[in-house]
Amino acid sequence: MIIVMSPDSREDDVALVVERLGERGYGHHISRGEQRTIIGAIGAPDHEKEVVAGQLTALPGVERVVPILKPYKLISREYNPQPGTVMIGNARFGPGHVGVIAGPCSIETREQILQTARAVKEAGATALRGGAFKPRTSPYSFQGLGYEGLELLAEAREETGLPIVTEVMDVRQVDRIAEVADCLQIGARNMQNYDLLKEAGRCGRPIMLKRGFSSTVGEWLRATEYIAAGGTLDIILCERGIRTFEDATRFTMDLSSIAVLRRETFLPVVADPSHAVGIASLVPPMALAAVAAGADGLLIEVHPRPDQALSDGPQSLTPAAFAELMQQIRRVAEAIGRDV
Ligand code: PEP
Ligand code: MN
Repeated sequence: MIIVMSPDSREDDVALVVERLGERGYGHHISRGEQRTIIGAIGAPDHEKEVVAGQLTALPGVERVVPILKPYKLISREYNPQPGTVMIGNARFGPGHVGVIAGPCSIETREQILQTARAVKEAGATALRGGAFKPRTSPYSFQGLGYEGLELLAEAREETGLPIVTEVMDVRQVDRIAEVADCLQIGARNMQNYDLLKEAGRCGRPIMLKRGFSSTVGEWLRATEYIAAGGTLDIILCERGIRTFEDATRFTMDLSSIAVLRRETFLPVVADPSHAVGIASLVPPMALAAVAAGADGLLIEVHPRPDQALSDGPQSLTPAAFAELMQQIRRVAEAIGRDV
């Protein structure tokens, strides 16, 4: 980190910073400019940096302390320069490929999930999604079928061979869901539920972490580091749109985050245009844009009867619309050197 002294700081302010750095085991390098003095802190234990930075900021004559290394490490490209691949069952998410996770927002009935699973498999999806536990904005909305839904999802996997992705909302559910699901999704509303992130990192299954709709990419990456620190690097990031002043769509699809993440981390990134735009007819163009922007996969909500869906009907594609979208995804993917 670099300690920038204020223009009116005095020599003993500089001396005090140097003394504190020494006590904490840091070396230092002082650079005296015409206007101000800058002190570079050298070689310190990683985990203490943030604390020390805060303490130094409180000293007299210190204007600000600038960290040099990123606050995430295990998931950074510095740590692992090559883009990585994460498998959800037999579905691949990584360079050269586009994985497609499709299925209903919620698992509602046996017939509904089986029918959807057959349709998305037929159209070329590589994984099946479905919420058994639903994080609904209102406590009076359909909350999901719980573990019964999970069993139905597993039955759909049995029949179609598609690996399954489902959301975990609570630390107490992690082990039981991990026994069945091929990948655990942590939703936007839980992105900063740190206990859940740590527990998920230990469960032995790949984790898909969705972006909190009010979170910056930096906060998202730090949340991801919690999962990695828990013990796994089988993590997929999912951009699902953020809240902005725009109200023509449900959220705003942040495509630039795909490029930023590519620069910052080796972990695969998938895009969820369904939740981002919230309107079925707008899902295909944004799905294609995400693939063109370099997403390693997509998450698309599909329902056999969107007009009867218990959650997220307005943004769900019919099986026919999904099949047509899959054709277009193949063409865009091919144009940028990926297969589906
Ligand atoms: C979902 O995938 O159905 C969901 C609830 O997504 P998000 O957490 O992104 O809102
Ligand atoms: Mn949904």
